[in-house]
Amino acid sequence: MNFRAYQPKPPKERKPYQWRRKPKKESLRYNLILDGAVRVYPDGREVCQDNAAGRDEYKRRLHLLLQRQGFKCCLCGESLNTYNSTFEHRCPRGLAGATRDDRIEDVQGNPMNGAAHWSCNSEAGSSRNKVYVR
Ligand SMILES: [Zn+2]
Repeated sequence: MNFRAYQPKPPKERKPYQWRRKPKKESLRYNLILDGAVRVYPDGREVCQDNAAGRDEYKRRLHLLLQRQGFKCCLCGESLNTYNSTFEHRCPRGLAGATRDDRIEDVQGNPMNGAAHWSCNSEAGSSRNKVYVR
């Protein structure tokens, strides 16, 4: 029998996998506020940027929501702390973020969005017609 020596193919060259989207640069479609941490769109939506400053602002807002709700989940009413809470969006972050709004108060100063358990938030899914318990 004649065994040919196994000759592996040389590995293909790949680009390094980028697991984090680059924060968006300045644009005519939104203004950057708070040293580039938050994008403000003409329709009033605010979206935290995907950079260190933006993530800090997101956490700060989440903590404000927790304080406003007395550290209770806005979906199930059970107790909540900084570590098991997530930002619950009234309008989901879906549609590539086209409807995402990270504000915690609307233009009239009414409370919007809330803090919820990670599990409650994922159960709620992306249904737009959910009932809010406050
Ligand atoms: Zn909950």
